[in-house]
Amino acid sequence: MTNLAETVALSDDELMRYARQILLESWDIDAQLRLKSSRVVMIGAGGLGCPASETLVRAGLGQTHLIDDDEIEASNLQRQTLFLPEDIGRPKALTAAEMLEKINPLISARGTVARLNEDNAYDLLDMAAGKPSLLLDCTDNFATRDIINRISVRFQIPLLTASAIGTQGQLALFEPQLNTGCYYCVFGSVTHNAEIDERTCANSGVLASTTAIMGNLQANAALQYLGLTKNPLINKLLLWDGSRMQQRLMGYRQDKHCPVCAV
Ligand SMILES: [Zn+2]
Repeated sequence: MTNLAETVALSDDELMRYARQILLESWDIDAQLRLKSSRVVMIGAGGLGCPASETLVRAGLGQTHLIDDDEIEASNLQRQTLFLPEDIGRPKALTAAEMLEKINPLISARGTVARLNEDNAYDLLDMAAGKPSLLLDCTDNFATRDIINRISVRFQIPLLTASAIGTQGQLALFEPQLNTGCYYCVFGSVTHNAEIDERTCANSGVLASTTAIMGNLQANAALQYLGLTKNPLINKLLLWDGSRMQQRLMGYRQDKHCPVCAV
């Protein structure tokens, strides 16, 4: 591993702000520098994107890019923690990015009002400037997850995907460059999931704590991956059931016939 201290350093303000984190035995200056050097693209600035980005930005993630084409509605305020009543009608991506930079002026956050697809992915992910360190899927439907998964495999960018509905959530971290398997290996095709896809937060509801927990579990996995270069969910799908206060880990393997990620 290259010596990060040679290329990037922490200012006095950063050392002060992140002091409690750097104190940790498991998290040192190098971890903090790796986090500072990371660029994360988050797709979805809603129920999951708000808590996930807030924790990552407070922790010191260097560059956050939020992509979302939605506007803030009154019914979002119950769980989308970066928004205030006066933000109703404003674009989520831009409002969230502004708030993140207010929360931590030592980092950079930007928002793009767009819907990511396979055609615009190269430009939206700024691939010309190099690969993002990690993609965070913070969306709420299978169709978009399928697209993000295909983009992750095509550009070989690790994908940390979270979902939340009702009192339940799921989390997985796929590393296409290591052939860990992908979202399709675990969940199958969009058509197969069409029925389940009918269940979105808009029509089935979600408890405020479910998105807060799943967004922060996602941030927790991202911090380990970016700061400590560890995937805490190698070939494991995390399942959270808030009504029973239960968390389970389920193993999975790459489907050698997966049409998306199998060579
Ligand atoms: Zn696959």
